[in-house]
Amino acid sequence: MSTTYIYLFCTILFIVAIRYMSDTKTAIWGCICGIIGMTIAIISDFIPLPHEAVALIIALLSGAAIGIFSGLKVKITNLPQMIAIFNGLGGGASVCIAIGNIAGFSSALIAGAIIGAITLSGSAVAFGKLQGLFRKHLKSGLKILSANIISLIAIALCIVFYYYSHQPLYFRALIIISLFWGLVLVWPVGGADMPIIISILNSLSGCAAIAIGFAQSNILLIAVGALVGAGGLMLAAFMLKSTNSSLVKIFIPSHPASSSSQLNLQARSGTPAEAAFIMENADKIIIVPGFGMAAASAQHALKTLGDLLHQKYNAKIMYAVHPVAGRMPGHMNVLLAEADISYDDVFSLEDINPEFATADVAYVIGANDITNPQAKTNPHSPLYGMPILDVAAAKTIFFVKRSLGEGYSGVENPLFFAPNTIMLYGDAKKVTEEITRILEQ
Ligand code: NAP
Repeated sequence: MSTTYIYLFCTILFIVAIRYMSDTKTAIWGCICGIIGMTIAIISDFIPLPHEAVALIIALLSGAAIGIFSGLKVKITNLPQMIAIFNGLGGGASVCIAIGNIAGFSSALIAGAIIGAITLSGSAVAFGKLQGLFRKHLKSGLKILSANIISLIAIALCIVFYYYSHQPLYFRALIIISLFWGLVLVWPVGGADMPIIISILNSLSGCAAIAIGFAQSNILLIAVGALVGAGGLMLAAFMLKSTNSSLVKIFIPSHPASSSSQLNLQARSGTPAEAAFIMENADKIIIVPGFGMAAASAQHALKTLGDLLHQKYNAKIMYAVHPVAGRMPGHMNVLLAEADISYDDVFSLEDINPEFATADVAYVIGANDITNPQAKTNPHSPLYGMPILDVAAAKTIFFVKRSLGEGYSGVENPLFFAPNTIMLYGDAKKVTEEITRILEQ
């Protein structure tokens, strides 16, 4: 079989893998198809083995070992950081191939090097922000715009000089400036926009692979790059729509962070016993999970509580999932599915919002930003414009969290001080287990 047919077969396997991964029930088969496709692709590329066979095998085995180790060890709450690293590695690989193969002027290699370098440094910044290593953002839109324009002009000049002189110096300068541009692009991005930027970087790593694929006449690289590029772009577009945002708002943020302080207001705190009493008398309870549920691994405790309230107290239980709840797209869906919560009880933002007005209880467990009314009312808030879950409409709102602390966006939530809100301070899992224990008695 010629390499072209093998590549075609691998591409089909990757498409099937993505299709299967869109459903939790078939996701495992998606992973298996992806692994088979990638294994065949790698083996077919290195037969007959080139003279650097030993170096290649060492590189492949170490890459596989790091992949397996991180897949097993990285906590689900840290998956966005892992994806940021993998995006960066994809970009870095494209830069390395471009450096290793550049001889004369090749527009495809140059495009691969530029996009790869932007992805590499941008992903490094994204990793640092997600990991909480740095949070400072440039506030002036004008400064950000100028830095972007200067980078763009410098890159254009390097391309022109390289085209006419073929001096490697200009190619190296091109890569360094592209690395700087990646930093400039991602540095100002605010916390709540990180999932979108991760998807865009994912798409860019695919675009870099397409460019390198053209330069190397490797159709598999072009096909896989196109899958990654299109997938990342679609996810970014979906999240932009979900958060009512735009690329300009993300890359050139113009609003200052909210300075309004609610600290002079008193939040009402309750106990698990009070929560149990209100919940056992409720007909309809909407559970709103967020990042804190993931951090506390409270999904199984939540399932036990939901089942108990439904079976023993006849309450209708609904789970509300916001598109950017947690720290990665689909974060809550994955955890709720892991706890065996039926998909029929899980509702998207559009479907659940009209239900809050008739709900007796909104049990907000480790969620914050996705319920913050400032997204609707405060044009100066970084959350402004993001659709939220309308938990305020429920008769009673319980917020299960450890303090009055802010969420990922660093914005206070005025809902903590609403007359129908009761704060249940503590770890999401422990509080939920305590309510269940009281209800079981
Ligand atoms: P959030 O706004 O970050 O709030 C999570 C809350 O959980 C915190 O206020 C924290 O309060 C609480 N918490 C943490 N550990 C806890 C524990 N062990 N037990 C109980 N509570 C705990 O989360 P969210 O409402 O899910 O909103 C997601 C945010 O992340 C959005 O701003 C979104 O844009 C952003 N984001 C999303 C993604 C994505 O793709 N989904 C990726 C990156 C960023 P205490 O400290 O007081 O406990």
